[in-house]
Amino acid sequence: ATAPLLTVNNIEVVYDHVILVLKGVSLEVPTGGIVALLGANGAGKTTTLKAISSLLKAERGEVTKGQITYQNERIDRLEPSIVVKRGVIQVMEGRHAFGHLTCEENLLTGAYTRGDSRSAMHRDLDMVYAYFPRLAERRHAKAGYVSGGEQQMMVIGRALMARPKLILLDEPSMGLAPQLVKEIFDIVLRLNQEEGVSFLLAEQNATVALRIANYGYILENGRVVLDGEAAVLHDNEDVKEFYLGLS
Ligand code: ATP
Repeated sequence: ATAPLLTVNNIEVVYDHVILVLKGVSLEVPTGGIVALLGANGAGKTTTLKAISSLLKAERGEVTKGQITYQNERIDRLEPSIVVKRGVIQVMEGRHAFGHLTCEENLLTGAYTRGDSRSAMHRDLDMVYAYFPRLAERRHAKAGYVSGGEQQMMVIGRALMARPKLILLDEPSMGLAPQLVKEIFDIVLRLNQEEGVSFLLAEQNATVALRIANYGYILENGRVVLDGEAAVLHDNEDVKEFYLGLS
């Protein structure tokens, strides 16, 4: 079997030198996969994503045990900008857009690490607009004035501008109406199938995440308590009762 694109091996994460938040988390993202990272508020999903993207340091967090391997190389001691250059892009929870910039300017900020030609950037802009026609309509609107759904599309679009191989997508459904969540998740699935982007998708909304994911991990209190094929997790009675709210 080929090695996974990303392997998180038994990592511990500590904040402020004392607060142990991840207590030995392991997971894999295969090349071309969509993997769901599920769990309640505070389970450690965001911390796991930030450990992968090397963004913990800014929050006084540290990986104190374990390894993170991406494309067969350790990445757990790298600067965040280097991780980005290798194609691992985190889309933060809460849609961090630059409110005073237009949607198009926000998208272009995603391309800044590439040092690419203008024509290549504009080709990628067109690709983003093809997936998100609403963003094309709103390209000249200030990001602070577009809807929550459009902002979520914009931050995913901004990640695409960085030519990602792996997107770490944090809670994209948060605060959005079900129809919009469906629209965005359908586009994530297309980006996976048509552009070959792999996803690690952190979600409290297990039902929608498992609909597009191939595989899922359930985090509880900093530990993986269950993992399996998405369809199996979806039909698991315990998962239904505790995580899907379907019982
Ligand atoms: P959410 O849906 O709120 O993002 P989550 O599953 O992503 O939940 P985390 O944000 O990773 O969970 O938080 C896991 C635990 O770590 C929580 O108990 C949280 O209070 C704690 N935590 C997060 N960030 C910090 C920090 N910078 N300093 C100290 N503790 C933190």
